Amino acid sequence: MKEYKCKYCGEVFEKPLLLARHVRLAHKKAKTREKKAVAIGKESDQINRSIEAIGILKGLQASPNLSQGEKKLLQEVSQRIEELLAYTPGSK
Ligand SMILES: [Zn+2]
Repeated sequence: MKEYKCKYCGEVFEKPLLLARHVRLAHKKAKTREKKAVAIGKESDQINRSIEAIGILKGLQASPNLSQGEKKLLQEVSQRIEELLAYTPGSK
């Protein structure tokens, strides 16, 4: 007899209909939650990278070899990133 095995948890069912119902009931919700978690993870990853970029820019600003113009440019760029971060939900 053919068996229908759940690809998520390995549970075996006699009919494809039963398997489909099981997947819908037991796994569909978890799947959506997983997707959401991945999206949130990506977002905070981007925030972390932006914060890192600000840190690098601030470090560069402190370098003694820079001209006034270069310092001003770095200041402007890091300010712009900080402003972007302020509008990013979840960065506070
Ligand atoms: Zn299952």
